[in-house]
Amino acid sequence: MEHGKEVSKPLSIKYIADMPYKYHAGYYYSRFLRELRDNKRIVGVKCPKCGKVYVPPRIVCRDCFVKMEEFVAVSDKGTLLAFTVTNFSYIDTTTGEPKRIPFTAAFIKLDGADSNIVHCLDETDEKKIKAGMRLQAVFSDKRTGDYFHDIDHFKIIDGT
Ligand SMILES: [Zn+2]
Repeated sequence: MEHGKEVSKPLSIKYIADMPYKYHAGYYYSRFLRELRDNKRIVGVKCPKCGKVYVPPRIVCRDCFVKMEEFVAVSDKGTLLAFTVTNFSYIDTTTGEPKRIPFTAAFIKLDGADSNIVHCLDETDEKKIKAGMRLQAVFSDKRTGDYFHDIDHFKIIDGT
């Protein structure tokens, strides 16, 4: 056997998986999605013991282990903590279509929240993006109860 280009060329394995499914979002996440869809409002839930606000809402405080029941609105503005400009496509699990590239995935701390969220920025030039920048959510005109659709993206609102 010769060790030429043909031998070292990577092979591929074809695999077609078609496994559509959906699961119940639960009471807390459903309320979060409903507020996005119906009111363009981002809500979290506040811990009665430590006062931390979790977005998206969750039932139990991760620090105090107490049940949280007070839903509170947080700002649609926040601070960019980290980001990555992605040039590799994948199949979007909600649409079944290839994700358009490039896109910028962002780790965001909303004003009034003590937890962070992940979403996309509309800017894909990494030279124009810096951690610490102020962002604002841009809602879709037609909202359907889907987090990555109802908030279409976050836009940069200053050049900090
Ligand atoms: Zn707590």
